[in-house]
Amino acid sequence: MARILSGKELAAKMRQEMQTELTELKSKHNLVPSLSVILVGDDPGSISYVKGKEKACAYVGINVQKYKFDADYPQADLLKLITDLNNNPDVNGILVQLPLPDHINEEKVLYAIDPEKDVDGFHPINVGRLMIGAPGYIPGTPHGIQQLLLRNDIDISGKHVVIVGRSNIVGKPLALLLVQKKPGANATITMCHTGTRNISDFTKLADILVVATGRPHTVNAEMVKEGVVVIDVGVNRIEDSTKKSGYRLIGDVEFEEVSAKASAISPVPGGVGPMTITMLLHNVIQAAKKQKGISKI
Ligand code: NAP
Repeated sequence: MARILSGKELAAKMRQEMQTELTELKSKHNLVPSLSVILVGDDPGSISYVKGKEKACAYVGINVQKYKFDADYPQADLLKLITDLNNNPDVNGILVQLPLPDHINEEKVLYAIDPEKDVDGFHPINVGRLMIGAPGYIPGTPHGIQQLLLRNDIDISGKHVVIVGRSNIVGKPLALLLVQKKPGANATITMCHTGTRNISDFTKLADILVVATGRPHTVNAEMVKEGVVVIDVGVNRIEDSTKKSGYRLIGDVEFEEVSAKASAISPVPGGVGPMTITMLLHNVIQAAKKQKGISKI
């Protein structure tokens, strides 16, 4: 059976390390990092994600200011708030929870955030920095996947990493991150999507297979080789009457059968999810240190 790559355990360990670092930063530099979180509307998923981020920030010692608005909040007011937060030296990081309501242009909002406070790493300046391998803010999910591999002693260099899914928040930045000629990267990358013909021709070649489609059952045992390392990014709700909530979460990979062939696999839940939030915390701490002149990125 495959080794379980527990993001839950690793995230707990990394958050403890961050807590220690922040205690030291406070006593030595009187620095308490601060994150402004903006939530527009009542999407239950977004509310729960923001809660998770607030809880994680509180645990490590990051101050959070939450701005919660009704779904009809005007775009102009949102842009004005972002400008104010950009200009406020007490704010180190700004996060706008996605998705935004339809009347708001998501791109316009994300591009309005000062790249030095863009702790989600979605601003084109940070995307560009990632592309050329320059220091910048890396989006939490790809960064979390890289850490989950490395801190489980899974070497990435020279490996064939096949990524299924090409979104701007998972697949594409992960490809950019792992292809760099750098320690902890240096992989050969193949990227698959809905336009890929005979997808299993590619998934079978993977040393490390990352699946981020948001479609349950995307990958089964026949599609992977013996000994593959599998990272399942997908989070899908399926009905389950045995659960109090009426649903349970599953990934994009057939966990049981793929586990029998894989050498290591990340579970859902408890895999990539906790790592994503942890790397957001990392970015907020980096932003605070950089803005205070304690470190470059
Ligand atoms: P997305 O924007 O919908 O992108 C999905 C990608 O998968 C697209 O590139 C799509 O191809 C591709 N795809 C869909 N079905 C496919 C199939 N059958 N075969 C091959 N490719 C297929 O989704 P996302 O935001 O990247 O998220 C993906 C999943 O990861 C979701 O379940 C999401 O909830 C989860 N997620 C989890 C975390 C976490 O922290 N755990 C973070 C982010 C996302 P096309 O481009 O051709 O349409």
